Amino acid sequence: MTAPDEHWFEEISDPGFAGLFISQEHRVLDTRGSVVVSGHCPRCSHPMTFDYSKLVHKGILPRFKASKPIAKGPLPMYCTCRFEHRDRPDDEEGCGAFWSLEVLPQ
Ligand SMILES: [Zn+2]
Ligand SMILES: [Zn+2]
Repeated sequence: MTAPDEHWFEEISDPGFAGLFISQEHRVLDTRGSVVVSGHCPRCSHPMTFDYSKLVHKGILPRFKASKPIAKGPLPMYCTCRFEHRDRPDDEEGCGAFWSLEVLPQ
């Protein structure tokens, strides 16, 4: 693995991000109030966890369960790694990469 600051913070997406995320080791956890997906960021490769309750609380998504197929995809997701990325604003997290999952992996 290369230096952790290889990727500067940048809000960026790529059509390949979603497929790359799914192709790497990942986990979907169905919790009481939310769905949590963990895996590795397709851009910076850092381990990350995405808690969908964030988007539910913001009203972006309705409450849902991972065990049920979601009719209304795609599900937005963005890098939330805890590693440092240069130029990252204080109120941001991860490396800035974002993508969307058509459906949750089962
Ligand atoms: Zn990162
Ligand atoms: Zn990242």
